[in-house]
Amino acid sequence: MIASELLAQAAFLDGREPQSFPFFGVERRGAPVTAFARIDDRPIQLRTSIEHPDVVVVLDPGLLHTTPVTDGLKEGGLLLVNSRLPPEEVVAPASVRRATVDATRIAVAHGLGTASTPIVNTAVLGALAKAAGVVTLDAVQRAIDQFVPGHRPENRLASSDGYESVRLAGPMEHGAPVLAHRLTPLITVPEGPLATRPSSDLHTAAWRTLTPVVHLEKCTRCNFCWKFCPDDAIGFDSNGFPVIRLDYCKGCGICAAECPPRTIEMVAEA
Ligand code: SF4
Ligand code: SF4
Repeated sequence: MIASELLAQAAFLDGREPQSFPFFGVERRGAPVTAFARIDDRPIQLRTSIEHPDVVVVLDPGLLHTTPVTDGLKEGGLLLVNSRLPPEEVVAPASVRRATVDATRIAVAHGLGTASTPIVNTAVLGALAKAAGVVTLDAVQRAIDQFVPGHRPENRLASSDGYESVRLAGPMEHGAPVLAHRLTPLITVPEGPLATRPSSDLHTAAWRTLTPVVHLEKCTRCNFCWKFCPDDAIGFDSNGFPVIRLDYCKGCGICAAECPPRTIEMVAEA
């Protein structure tokens, strides 16, 4: 999660438009966590999880034996693994470019965590900067300076070591962004709601602590709230004004954030 946030910060410092968010599955200590990052040259309006990534980064190599990490990875995409193995020995579909970096060794060498619990984020991000070319090493190191709370010199060095030592299977253009020509083209936001599964069968209202209240006197009926609600919890009255379906609204506040005239207020539940 931290690596994903730092990646997004680095992309921002590179002048790009980033987005980063985690996905928590089983809520217990030690359970695998997935974090997503999108990077684009224009504002990102999609807020869905990423099903077909250009790049998959695996910080814990043990996951390769338990989790189908390359599911959905695009043909020609990159699988970067924290591993001592050469990339040729990482099991992955033939259509996928593989890279490895011994981020655990790098982290321990710089005093970042311990051999049993190394903190590998910055070494992996350095490796990612070189292998995928989606951010520069300079931006990664500036993000470390601005957002990492401690051990900044050590983290900077770890990112440099990751950058220098990452190995790619197959021919590599040294220092060049090898994936640049493969990255996803700009995405066009569809006209309808972005929710992939309406919450009518999920009843997410039980999660809500804040309720969206629409101040209709300022509403321009632009429909943005409807478009961006991840649970398809917004309908319309006969005059075209939005109506929140409170049975299905989980109170995430995305509608309020996306409403251009800031017509929606998130109000604490009584
Ligand atoms: S707060 Fe808004 S965006 Fe979030 S679920 Fe409720 S209506 Fe949808
Ligand atoms: S986004 Fe705001 S202005 Fe647009 S329809 Fe929804 S409440 Fe009204």
